[in-house]
Amino acid sequence: MSPEIVVDLASIRHNVRTLRELTGVASMTVVKADGYGHGMVEVARAAREAGSEWIGVATVDEALRLRASGDRGRLLCWLTVPGDDWAAAIDADIDVTAYTVAELDAIAATGRPARVQLKVDTGLSRGGATLESWPEVVARARRGEADGSWRITGIWSHFAASDEPGHPANDAQEHAFRHALELAEGLEPEVRHLANSAAGILRPSSRFDLVRFGIASYGLDPAPGETPDLGLVPAMTVRAPLVSAKRIAAGAGVSYGHTWVADTPTTVGLVPLGYGDGVPRHASNAAHVLVEGKQRVMRGRVCMDQFVVDLDGELPEPGTEVVLFGPGTHGEPTAQDWAEAAGTISYEIVTRIGGRPTRRYVDQ
Ligand SMILES: *Cc1c(COP(=O)(O)O)cnc(C)c1O
Repeated sequence: MSPEIVVDLASIRHNVRTLRELTGVASMTVVKADGYGHGMVEVARAAREAGSEWIGVATVDEALRLRASGDRGRLLCWLTVPGDDWAAAIDADIDVTAYTVAELDAIAATGRPARVQLKVDTGLSRGGATLESWPEVVARARRGEADGSWRITGIWSHFAASDEPGHPANDAQEHAFRHALELAEGLEPEVRHLANSAAGILRPSSRFDLVRFGIASYGLDPAPGETPDLGLVPAMTVRAPLVSAKRIAAGAGVSYGHTWVADTPTTVGLVPLGYGDGVPRHASNAAHVLVEGKQRVMRGRVCMDQFVVDLDGELPEPGTEVVLFGPGTHGEPTAQDWAEAAGTISYEIVTRIGGRPTRRYVDQ
């Protein structure tokens, strides 16, 4: 066994179905950043099989790669950068997103009938038309519809704090979105959408025609402490063989900087994954792994290629399986546990893990 990332596509399908049934509206599975580290092409295929009407990605490049893999359904991308090839995206039957009149002009200049969605910034202050520019963007969109340049297939926006259901930005953004829709009278988008995973689950009023589900599709909790138990199943398990186990004396310092020193004799094990593989260095001395049915804590700093765990006197054989995180059903930590240990969110844990470990797909 070498270090590997095991992705259960049956869990992805289960999560996609569960989420779709919950909302009762169309569903977009978001597979940007290589499917949050799970594999963009495989996750998109599983999501389509489970009935997801739309797939969402950030970049044109991701969308084109999905098309090259054989994906044929509705596909939205939303992060074009200057110099991107609008024509290639339109030719590949991708719904593109425009934020500005200049972008709409560039789309018209391709001379190809496009499917365009308009993104309005309702308060995230990231991408999207400002509310000030919205009337001009809408006017340009109407003109392009009239002259056959495009069909406006969607109008959408994105929340800043949907993982905090009580945050006042949520009401303000939903209100701003409804107002933007009123101002877009005359456009008849197929889909109006605002909600990501947390909002789709926690804020029914924000579901409109479609929910963009990212993290929840992978079985991870978009709003820890807030989300009801929906029976979502984390799809990713990361495992590695134990390289070796050995005894160390009281007073021995472990790993760079000796940030941990044994106060009694103990045994430690070596795991062949490090920050070069996306194991967060901030998890040093904090995250746990599962070895022979027991959770063992990391000791000392995570290195580039390896880290050390405390085996508390036991000496498992080299090659013994070490589970870093997984669904949590066999006593192993979850990506959420790792996120808490590293002071981050589960999104970052699963998205960054990768590189040297191979990815393997199962269907259980
Ligand atoms: C990443 C992303 C999503 C998915 O968010 P989750 O919190 O993972 O569900 C939805 N919409 C946009 C615009 C995004 O960038």
